[in-house]
Amino acid sequence: MEETTIFNGLKKHFKFDEFKSDLQRKATVEICQRKRDVFISMPTGSGKSLCYQLPAVLHPGKITIVFSPLLALIKDQIDHLTALKIRAATINSKITSAQRESVLMDLKSTSPNTRILYVTPEQAATATFKALYENLYKFNKIAYLVIDEAHCVSEWGHDFRPQYRKLGDLRDNVDVPCIALTATANSDVVKDIVASLKLAPDYRTFRTSCFRNNLFYDVHYPNLLPDPYKHLRDFVLDCLNEKEEKSMDKQRKSCGIIYCRTREQTELLMEKLNQLGVKALCYHAGLKSDERRVFQEQWQNGDVPVICATISFGMGVDKSTVRFVVHWGSPKEPASFYQETGRAGRDGKPSKCRVYYNRSDSKAIEFHLSQDYSKAGDVEHKKKRSERALKGFRKILEYCENPTECRHKLFTDHFGEPPPECSNRCDFCANGKKVRDLAEEFLTKSIQ
Ligand code: ADP
Ligand code: MG
Ligand code: ZN
Repeated sequence: MEETTIFNGLKKHFKFDEFKSDLQRKATVEICQRKRDVFISMPTGSGKSLCYQLPAVLHPGKITIVFSPLLALIKDQIDHLTALKIRAATINSKITSAQRESVLMDLKSTSPNTRILYVTPEQAATATFKALYENLYKFNKIAYLVIDEAHCVSEWGHDFRPQYRKLGDLRDNVDVPCIALTATANSDVVKDIVASLKLAPDYRTFRTSCFRNNLFYDVHYPNLLPDPYKHLRDFVLDCLNEKEEKSMDKQRKSCGIIYCRTREQTELLMEKLNQLGVKALCYHAGLKSDERRVFQEQWQNGDVPVICATISFGMGVDKSTVRFVVHWGSPKEPASFYQETGRAGRDGKPSKCRVYYNRSDSKAIEFHLSQDYSKAGDVEHKKKRSERALKGFRKILEYCENPTECRHKLFTDHFGEPPPECSNRCDFCANGKKVRDLAEEFLTKSIQ
């Protein structure tokens, strides 16, 4: 299929003048060819649905079957497509039998009008669906099999859905391109997706890199500093760069997050910073819920620039002017460290991610991870999970205590990407010798 045909389809059916990104365009063009399986990993909101919806529309007479985990998601998609006059339907337990009959009738006709059929994985396991599926395939009427939120196939993902595992069976002896979409996938989850959905060996990947080139990563050691709190204060002031922004409206003022391991640490740091002339708040599970709400609001509004928080802070926080994220102590493992520091610099401006590393916090974390307190799963399973957690933590130990390479490589390795073009966006690439010397001094002092 020609790229101009695809581009015209984008305008005609979706009313967009351009693709949202180069990656969206490339993925859509590849999918339109119907030659290979495709794996797409792009952040939420980047427009993954279009990558299969446009190809679906451009193959009239054929149907695209989309597996989606939730009825609510399915409803949103169908409403959206219907508004664009694209025929989309679902069969599930919530629709009337008359509706179901009408959908099935169309699907079984020689030239169906339905372009996209949404199905939950539970529905996919029913006899009705299986019969329909076989019939559609027999008459060469399936354009694509799409698995949305594909990380649900993996136990290592955050949303494991056992029924997703069975979707791979639908691919046995069926020669139809399969498209897997997800926003979150580390290399273990990707492996699971590829194996479980039986993607062909020549499948193509379209993935946004996890490398954030506006974030500068470094590590400092409080026990080597004459006054760690003053050092932190200077760092904070430097990042906030108050002078330039006096005139700005409050919401857009620079701010930052300091993550601590314990409640006590958040309160102590808040006090120290306030004493040293930086307005700061704390946030942890021990506060009363309205206190927590008020503090979060004050930070969100730009009244108080710094919040010292335990890791429960940040879910749903959508502030684009976070200029720094500090880990006071030690991060836990690469994925959560990536997510926490990823809250910095959402507006694309230079921002800093710093660890003030100390041994006692890291020992505490290591101990905690070696005990799997969660109730889910049997002994074998717990053991495996705890081993994984410790493996992740050892990566953090290397990062903090024995740096040998670019800081960003912690993440690109974790997400299975090639090393980034850092060009001095971390302390190691800026001055590797200095970083190694400092780490050595830290180790020598820590052993004494
Ligand atoms: P994802 O599934 O990756 O989270 P969606 O497919 O839900 O993202 O799309 C997110 C938003 O982006 C939607 O509102 C969608 O209409 C919009 N969008 C998709 N493609 C484009 C485009 N080419 N130009 C502008 N907006 C787009
Ligand atoms: Mg989506
Ligand atoms: Zn680097």
